[in-house]
Amino acid sequence: REPIRRKPDWIRVKAPVSKGYAETRKLMRDLKLNTVCEEAACPNIGECWTKKHATVMILGDVCTRACAFCNVKTGMPRMVDPLEPEHVATAAAEMGLEHIVITSVDRDDLPDGGASQFVKVINALRTRAPNTTIEILTPDFRGKMKDALKAICEARPDVFNHNLETVPRLYPTIRPGARYYASLRLLEEVKANDPTIFTKSGIMLGLGEQRLEIHQVMDDMRSADIDFLTMGQYLQPTPKHAKVEDFVTPQQFNALGSIARAKGFLQVASSPLTRSSYHAGDDFAEMKAA
Ligand code: SF4
Ligand code: SF4
Repeated sequence: REPIRRKPDWIRVKAPVSKGYAETRKLMRDLKLNTVCEEAACPNIGECWTKKHATVMILGDVCTRACAFCNVKTGMPRMVDPLEPEHVATAAAEMGLEHIVITSVDRDDLPDGGASQFVKVINALRTRAPNTTIEILTPDFRGKMKDALKAICEARPDVFNHNLETVPRLYPTIRPGARYYASLRLLEEVKANDPTIFTKSGIMLGLGEQRLEIHQVMDDMRSADIDFLTMGQYLQPTPKHAKVEDFVTPQQFNALGSIARAKGFLQVASSPLTRSSYHAGDDFAEMKAA
């Protein structure tokens, strides 16, 4: 167990107390939807839910993996809920969302890794909320990647996001069930399947990575034609999780953001509280308007 380090002043979050927050919470409960905002104990929940921006987590709230940074429960997941696609679409329609982020736990137990549920959710959203742009944030579909990607790309999400999470050297301790190059290849394959889908990835900083390693990850991402990049500070959810090695300053995040833009990413979000889905809708709208 690692004691949790005191957070610096620049990581300040507002308590979630607004009306919008309460309404988002109620809607998610009524529709029996899980959100990564709650499961991952995201520090932005007050701000995002006030603005009715949430990241829905499909395929249950129990994951078959156990990444060292992640607060989601590990174990044997439950059956897939056949009503989930309709519930997600209802949430998007009722909230009048411009953009929705759909993610999932990892389902190594399912024959298709959960790909068909992503497809059903995308199709339900297109029917019930046709003006909502769709971003999916997927697991790596280990051993099932080719078929999973083909099916999902045919459903044509607007943005396909898959996080590399950290630099390759730290994978054995931080992301033990995954392979760095498999994740990169996944995003490369999405572009090969359909070049009109925007691809996106992100890393957490503060896990002990070196600056040059971060630059290398950016170069690897650009070689795989990844369009959008997010970088944020890793925060330790509980004493059982990997400890924070460094708190990267806002200035360092800005500097890394500039380097990333110079390397050719279309959209870069880099700040201590940046998360994969933070301001995702605003950023996407801005990008489309540009
Ligand atoms: Fe949810 Fe993403 Fe906002 Fe965090 S940043 S509260 S995960 S939408
Ligand atoms: Fe968390 Fe995803 Fe790792 Fe599962 S695969 S433990 S949900 S980060």
